[in-house]
Amino acid sequence: MALSGIQIYKLLPQTNCKDCGFPTCLAFAMKLAAKQVELSSCPHVSAEAKAQLAESSAPPIRLVTVKSKDHEVKAGNETVLFRHEKTFYNRPGVFIRIKDNQDLISIEKLVKDVDAYHVNYVGIELRLDGFAIEDTSGDAEKFLQVIKIVRSHSSLPLILISENPAIVSSGLIPLSGESPLIMGATPLNWEAMAAIVKGHPASLAASSPTIDELVNLTENIKSKGVEDIVLHPSASTYSSLLAFSTQIRRLSLKKNFKPLGYPILVDAHHVDMAAQAIAKYAGFIILDEFTPQSAYPLLVLRQNIYTDPQKPIQVQPGLYEINRPQPDSPVLVTTNFSITYFSVANEVEGSGFPAWLLVTDAEGMSVLTAWAAGKFDAERIAKAVKTQTVDKVTKKVLVLPGNVAVLSGEVEAELPGWQVKVGPREAVDIPKFLKLGL
Ligand code: SF4
Repeated sequence: MALSGIQIYKLLPQTNCKDCGFPTCLAFAMKLAAKQVELSSCPHVSAEAKAQLAESSAPPIRLVTVKSKDHEVKAGNETVLFRHEKTFYNRPGVFIRIKDNQDLISIEKLVKDVDAYHVNYVGIELRLDGFAIEDTSGDAEKFLQVIKIVRSHSSLPLILISENPAIVSSGLIPLSGESPLIMGATPLNWEAMAAIVKGHPASLAASSPTIDELVNLTENIKSKGVEDIVLHPSASTYSSLLAFSTQIRRLSLKKNFKPLGYPILVDAHHVDMAAQAIAKYAGFIILDEFTPQSAYPLLVLRQNIYTDPQKPIQVQPGLYEINRPQPDSPVLVTTNFSITYFSVANEVEGSGFPAWLLVTDAEGMSVLTAWAAGKFDAERIAKAVKTQTVDKVTKKVLVLPGNVAVLSGEVEAELPGWQVKVGPREAVDIPKFLKLGL
């Protein structure tokens, strides 16, 4: 059970020394009870009190890391039910399933394709996170062979799927120095699985179709000294998965119910269920297939949900080329708020006219907001023009967004030799504007 602020206060030194940054021990205790500070901020807590406070200071959802030698996927440490309450922190890892009875040539191709796949989305590199290798053959040699093939073509983290402890043990042999996720422990095999994981830096997924059984499983596994547990709610329909996952998240966050305070693994099979799992509340997702067409929207959805709503997604400021611009092509200027950038860039691209798109650093704000906040003024625009367009642009025609027409005089004064024009207020009108000629 979580301790109240007063209970925590009784365990603190009560000297009010302020070393933690709070004026009193009571103030610190209240913050600790609300999980807004770390216990380590107080350097004077006795070892005995630390042990008692450990539960109170632990995050409601344990952070579990699945890692290879070069990459890692973290899940857990979430603090809210809804993203708009604060933010979601650790993006769910998306793993592609490989069955050990697939033919080896197709496995090699799949591994190479997934490993090579990455996309640049508004300056952010997106990629898939790893492979979930499933024992479907029941043959330890075969399982081991497939793991070795995957490892010879990719260093991405792994999930090993088997309910056979002997097969899991042999699969771990080539993964020394890595922390894979083992899926999974069931009411029938949990003891043997826990014994394997305890001697290896791996985490263990507990699988069950009911919440009561899941609770029993995690308590049993924890009693064997395994801390890094992942919950696998076995649900086959969208609604049952949603209900199961929501129950787990509510109980762990709102009731601080420790047996369910772990990340969730969703065996989504298909991309639409994976999309639901990204929104509600997966930490790890297994997909049956890989195609760039299905991976891209999924990764973009994940990126959009796992960003701080108070910090809009920004694009990298700079000079972007659209439709192969030439030195005499016009320069359109906008801010680095991603939605603004995409609205403008898509319209210019759709128009077919070559142009330079100058994206200024407006701290991720849209045009009008940035202007009102003093982040998109003549001085900043002129500075961006001078630093970004040198050696690239000769005709020197600059198009300002219609919403900041008021800046045109000042920009002209800052940029001698440039012809400053005022573009449309709405991005959708840009093609018509460009058609009129500049
Ligand atoms: S550092 Fe520790 S002892 Fe000092 S005021 Fe903070 S909580 Fe109290």
